[in-house]
Amino acid sequence: LNNVEKRFLASKKMFRENKYVHAINGISFDIRQGETFALVGESGCGKSTTGRLINRLLEPDRGEIWFHQENISNYSSSQMKPLRKKMQMVFQDPYGSLNPRMRISEIVGEPLLVHTNLTAKERYRKVMDLLEIVGLNERHAQSYAHEFSGGQRQRIGIARALTVNPSLVIADEPVSALDVSIQAQVINLFKNLQKEFQLTYLFISHDLSVVENISDRIGVMYLGKIMELTSKEKLYKEPLHPYTKALLSAIPIADPTLKRERILLKGDIPNPIDLPSGCPFHTRCPHAFQRCVEETPELKEVKAEHKVACHLSFS
Ligand code: SF4
Ligand code: MG
Repeated sequence: LNNVEKRFLASKKMFRENKYVHAINGISFDIRQGETFALVGESGCGKSTTGRLINRLLEPDRGEIWFHQENISNYSSSQMKPLRKKMQMVFQDPYGSLNPRMRISEIVGEPLLVHTNLTAKERYRKVMDLLEIVGLNERHAQSYAHEFSGGQRQRIGIARALTVNPSLVIADEPVSALDVSIQAQVINLFKNLQKEFQLTYLFISHDLSVVENISDRIGVMYLGKIMELTSKEKLYKEPLHPYTKALLSAIPIADPTLKRERILLKGDIPNPIDLPSGCPFHTRCPHAFQRCVEETPELKEVKAEHKVACHLSFS
């Protein structure tokens, strides 16, 4: 993504003039082949919108989106069709995203119907293979979604995404609806599948403790901007942005050599209809100073492979 912006018209009922929700305010990053890139931030920060811009369910207002050396920023849905196959989604809600009237075999086989010319028999074979790969079996194929637990449903959603051999899987909060014990199993499944099928993941989560086990690099988002972008190791060991530090301070740590003080942020996330001037985080940042109110910090590389959008000096 290159300098991508996206805004939505705010509800007309609430305002007399047209107002916009500034969902994405100029973000740039790339997802490298074979990696897991995690986007993390509180709800409403624009993570899901970013996912939907990448697979072009949404069109950017500004900026460019590239996929495999193709600028897909303004592709029509027919231009996107062959590429959609290459980028599949896994959704948060394993309860709502599976059609209750379809058998599991039909649900998992649906992308094959849309994107390939396989015969019914070939599709069935492929579906069975994938169900087995995600830890389900032939017996499950004839059942309906409501007969499964949340973890099983997420396995079904993953099998469905993999039928058409995608290169990029966009997983939007894929384990957030699951119990913690099940989360670990599903994360492990994601990791094993990545190795087996050379998948690239965009992994979206509000929870830094979830992405620690799966990500290679992490982008921390706040109010439609990326605040910090670096490797997982650097982000957890030496977070630089005040927002990242606050997020990290909220999660319990196992390693006693890493002492972290709990940082409580004042106030709420500002309304994305009226964005703060300068640094979007300045209304809550414990380090804010005059320049933060006046000037928006660029996301820039302050150390090797470590980008931060903040006026503080990190050298
Ligand atoms: Fe805080 Fe200023 Fe840095 Fe923004 S630019 S994070 S307000 S210190
Ligand atoms: Mg979301």
